[in-house]
Amino acid sequence: MTLSQTTRVKNSTPSSIRVMFDLAEQADHDLVRLEVGQPDFQTPAHIIDAATAAAKNGHTGYTANAGIPELRAAVAEMLQSSYGVPATPDGVTITVGGMEALHLAMLATVEPGQEVLLPSPVWPNYPMQATLAGGTPVEIPLSAETGYALDADAVIERMGPETAAVVLCTPSNPTGRVFDEKPVRAVVEAAAAHDVAVIADEVYLGLTYDRAPRGIAGYVDEHEHVLTIGSVSKTHAMTGWRLGWIAGDPAFIDGVNTIHESTTSCAPSIVQHAALAALTGPQEPVVEMYETFKGRRELVVDRIAEIDGLSAPDPQAAFYAFIEPELSGSSLSIAKRLLSEFGVVLAPGDGFGTAGKGRLRLSFANSTAQIEEGFDRIETALRSW
Ligand code: PMP
Repeated sequence: MTLSQTTRVKNSTPSSIRVMFDLAEQADHDLVRLEVGQPDFQTPAHIIDAATAAAKNGHTGYTANAGIPELRAAVAEMLQSSYGVPATPDGVTITVGGMEALHLAMLATVEPGQEVLLPSPVWPNYPMQATLAGGTPVEIPLSAETGYALDADAVIERMGPETAAVVLCTPSNPTGRVFDEKPVRAVVEAAAAHDVAVIADEVYLGLTYDRAPRGIAGYVDEHEHVLTIGSVSKTHAMTGWRLGWIAGDPAFIDGVNTIHESTTSCAPSIVQHAALAALTGPQEPVVEMYETFKGRRELVVDRIAEIDGLSAPDPQAAFYAFIEPELSGSSLSIAKRLLSEFGVVLAPGDGFGTAGKGRLRLSFANSTAQIEEGFDRIETALRSW
């Protein structure tokens, strides 16, 4: 007899990004990979050196659950000075990536049976994490016509006694949208009135191109209802190091530290020292990567504008364009055909909820030459389909 699994496991499905990734790994022909959501750069050398030194200097044991004090302080200082977030060291928990921070945020705010409001297109891990916490994900579709602007009225209308949390992913994966401050303020105000948590996923905040990046907790009055999620993954090319944080009201974060003890104990000690170097050391490599992404963003906007049958709201941040090709079929079937017949790999939009139907996420975390080649292949596909 096989070992039975919980409904929690049975209800979980791998994201369609993963499906495309696996198909691409198995393919035997030359592919342009534009489905991957991670920087194509090496981690800056001084960060790697700091990790090596930490290992050699005996920083190889458990740390305090919340993280080493120097790193909590560095994260608080960076959140204050770069994004205006009123964070204090005792209001920061260091986690295993932004991913663990999000998981802890859900566990700390969602009672079983409560709802988690998710403006959609939605990053697939939120509904999964809400479900793992015993909650019910509720999508609030945003419209492509507005460039996926936050529809505060639609979110507030759905908010009630059954609501536990709202997740605001800004800058957004997959749309590259930065939500405007006015609707965000309205949502946070309503959330505070209902004692609902606002989980602000700001892992892409450092890759904001057209305006100064501002953290939500930095400009709303009700910042004690906001949990700020961040990580070094995207800004410092450190996805594999797995280091992030959750920041909020110290009294709330204290409880987060308690449940964090039973999930991972603490983030890896060597990596915490590397992250300290990332935040407090030379920032030139980070600025260089940022400028490179910004240049690629221009290229992507230009190519989308010049190809017939292709459209997308201009990405304002991160490294994604959420494109709509004039092709019939589900986005998964379109993505599979683009891979097998034209050799270009994109993430299917319906993996990002109901608002993602018919769309594809194109990641420009790849070289200019590969991005150009990818668009050439998409153009050929649109002409010959
Ligand atoms: N939030 C969003 C929207 C993401 O796209 C990702 C990574 N793909 C994460 C959070 C988590 O990233 P990490 O755990 O590497 O910090």
